[in-house]
Amino acid sequence: AAGDHRVPHTAYRRQRQRGIRDRAFIDALTGLPNRRQFDQALQAEWQRGVRSGQPLALLLMDIDFFKQYNDLYGHPEGDACLQAVAKVLPSGLNRSYDLIARYGGEEFVCLLPECSLEGARAKAQALCAAVRALQRPHAGSQVAAHVTISIGVAAVVPSADARPEQLLAQADAHLYAAKQAGRNQVHAGNHEKVS
Ligand code: GH3
Ligand code: MG
Ligand code: MG
Repeated sequence: AAGDHRVPHTAYRRQRQRGIRDRAFIDALTGLPNRRQFDQALQAEWQRGVRSGQPLALLLMDIDFFKQYNDLYGHPEGDACLQAVAKVLPSGLNRSYDLIARYGGEEFVCLLPECSLEGARAKAQALCAAVRALQRPHAGSQVAAHVTISIGVAAVVPSADARPEQLLAQADAHLYAAKQAGRNQVHAGNHEKVS
């Protein structure tokens, strides 16, 4: 792919390195980059995409029936589940400038620079499968015997007159569709325009 040998932009890399050190940019429970680090990366990658003309993809991931998980196994076990999911997700990435962050609660977000919708859909399928492969029992789930996630996917070529929040909103709409369609699945929609 076009970006496989790309070296991360210096300022962005510095930001990422600072993020790794600075607790303000790290989620305390999972050790993943937090929402703040993600928001910065999204803004930076959006600007880079405007210049490069390369698509930027975003995955929104949400654990299925997690309220029932807490109700059944208790909040500490819920925390351990979040840690287990947080640990397996980054293992599905292979490019240094891909980012997985805890977006909040039982939601995670993945930013894939220079990635097409089809590439992002395939990545999402792999992440969904990786969580299934954990085989973490979830007797309160109505979709499987184990913990699963649903993923909404969006990708767009960033433009100066659009906003990155629209990419997020599109991924969120597709996550909602994945939930409606039964959970434990990926929804990517078609090539919609963000404008
Ligand atoms: P859906 O399949 O539609 O996503 O249903 P859900 O039950 O996963 O969604 P809902 O939003 O109803 O519940 C999310 C739950 O996640 C409720 C909340 O208590 C739990 N949660 C959020 N943050 C944490 C956390 O840090 N630790 C634990 N243990 N639970 C959390
Ligand atoms: Mg949720
Ligand atoms: Mg959920």
